[in-house]
Amino acid sequence: MTDRNDVFETPVLIAGGGPIGLALAADLGRRGVATLLVEERENKLNPPKMLEVSVRTMEFCRQLGIVDQVRGWGFPRDWPLDSVFVTDMQGYELGRVRIPALKDLTHLPVSPERGMPCPQTWFDPILQKHARSFPHVTIRHRVELTGFTQDTSGVTATLLDRQSGRAETVRARYLVGCDGFASTVRKLLGIEIRGEPHIDWSMTIYLRIPDFHAQHDKGKAFRYVFVGPEGTWSFLSIVDGKDLWRLQLVDLDESRLQNADIPALVRRFMGREISYTIEDKNLWVRKRTVADRFMDGRAFLAGDAAHAHPPNGGLGMNTGIQDAFDLGWKLAAVLQGWGGETLLESYDYERRPASARAAEVSLKNYRRLVSAAQRAEINAATPAGDAARRAIGDGLVQENEKTWQPIGVHLGYIYDPSPIVVPDGDRKPDDDTFGYQPTAFPGARAPHIWLDAETSTLDLFGAGFVLLKFSDVATDALEASARSRNVPLRVHRIANQEAAALYKRALVLVRPDGHVAWRGDLQPGDPMELIDTVRGAGPRVAACRAGRTTPRL
Ligand SMILES: Cc1cc2nc3c(=O)[nH]c(=O)nc-3n(C[C@H](O)[C@H](O)[C@H](O)COP(=O)(O)OP(=O)(O)OC[C@H]3O[C@@H](n4cnc5c(N)ncnc54)[C@H](O)[C@@H]3O)c2cc1C
Repeated sequence: MTDRNDVFETPVLIAGGGPIGLALAADLGRRGVATLLVEERENKLNPPKMLEVSVRTMEFCRQLGIVDQVRGWGFPRDWPLDSVFVTDMQGYELGRVRIPALKDLTHLPVSPERGMPCPQTWFDPILQKHARSFPHVTIRHRVELTGFTQDTSGVTATLLDRQSGRAETVRARYLVGCDGFASTVRKLLGIEIRGEPHIDWSMTIYLRIPDFHAQHDKGKAFRYVFVGPEGTWSFLSIVDGKDLWRLQLVDLDESRLQNADIPALVRRFMGREISYTIEDKNLWVRKRTVADRFMDGRAFLAGDAAHAHPPNGGLGMNTGIQDAFDLGWKLAAVLQGWGGETLLESYDYERRPASARAAEVSLKNYRRLVSAAQRAEINAATPAGDAARRAIGDGLVQENEKTWQPIGVHLGYIYDPSPIVVPDGDRKPDDDTFGYQPTAFPGARAPHIWLDAETSTLDLFGAGFVLLKFSDVATDALEASARSRNVPLRVHRIANQEAAALYKRALVLVRPDGHVAWRGDLQPGDPMELIDTVRGAGPRVAACRAGRTTPRL
């Protein structure tokens, strides 16, 4: 980064230091890309929005080398992660989705990691500390991006230093708007959002409740869902694994939420008087939106700026983190000179449909959660009350069992079509948002197999391209082509029958973000064409444009 004539110059400028901006800064940092991140608020988080980190985000944290910190932030290992449907904490239990405590969670066969609770109050500082550990990454708080223009060689942005009141100018090769749902970058680009920008209102209230578990008989759980005669009316989730809880109200009416009688609400969900303190509260709008484009010239959108979801299922941040890891290596490749002219364009082709899919699942999750039938007799100590509770509880458990672990959304997104992925003629696996069948289909996340007690196939990915080699077939021409285009490529021989069967071909080329770019049983006839395609210099963008499908919104 340089400072010339009062114009600060940087290869990448990130607007917004929420989890997505921080993840992108960390990814660019490890790739050696100098980056300036500006965040308009102080370096202090309001109460967390995000509580649950997905299995895929944990895999990225593993790549960054911070997974132990995320695992070890302090959530009690013996706290069951159940979701329990109740009338109130003294009342009837309607049903329970059982998820064991961290100490009893076995590893998923499909990943070296597991999703887990790690509220933003802990997660963001871990990311931030890691991003700051790279001397070429600068993070400035209380600095707002107020405007920008772009030309053929870069972006000129104006910043407002809120501390000094001074306006500044920054010249960057690329700008990434990680500035949340109300994104200034998106608005300045004139990019529209589609979907449902206003589904309903919700209110979040943070409550510190001492000795919560001594005051009910429902046992410890991650989340309690309260169902009354009017249906599901609120959820209570543990935040810090101690005594901080988050109550979320569901309502359509803003003024009713704004004037909510909090003592009465606490009395209602608890079924009795308890002592508590209100730590914070905020009113927010539930939405499902996807931007029309995720990029325009040299400016990109990532995270909530590009797609916003109902939080149900924990897909908002976790989907945005995937944006960051898709974009990070592409920006690095172009800035380092080996990325082709259409590499950055592939970001929109790949991430927009994947985000739209996750946003749609989030909305369905929400509808399922609030779908409890309205039954006046739900609290009645009568046979009719018993029957109503059984029906409601069974329905809610059945509907929601998979909702809290939509592994197909986390791991099963496939970049197809993509201008930088080469199909191999196999039939594309059916889309399944809940289940996940590991596949090395081109565009998919390259699957996990343990290579030894501690090494996953996923541990081979991250830096440059990796050519996995499952037999002694020649790779010299591919290696030479990569070398001649300065594409970083390592060849890794794998002598593991299980992995060979899963990956299905003798050679599998995996991108720096861990997605399969190509596979075949022999080197391709024209290895240079393959290398040019996967580095974004091939003619496939035009082909993709021609057959492009717009995600259903
Ligand atoms: C109640 C609730 C619970 C949730 N739970 C989960 C969950 O469990 N799992 C999950 O994956 N997701 C969850 N989400 C969604 C998740 O919080 C968001 O998807 C995530 O925070 C998006 O991150 P982001 O970095 O894109 O945007 P944000 O977190 O909104 O961060 C954007 C940042 O940009 C800054 N900014 C804005 N404009 C400017 C500007 N002009 N200049 C400089 N800085 C600027 C803002 O101050 C802000 O810090 C939840 C959301 C809610 C509301």
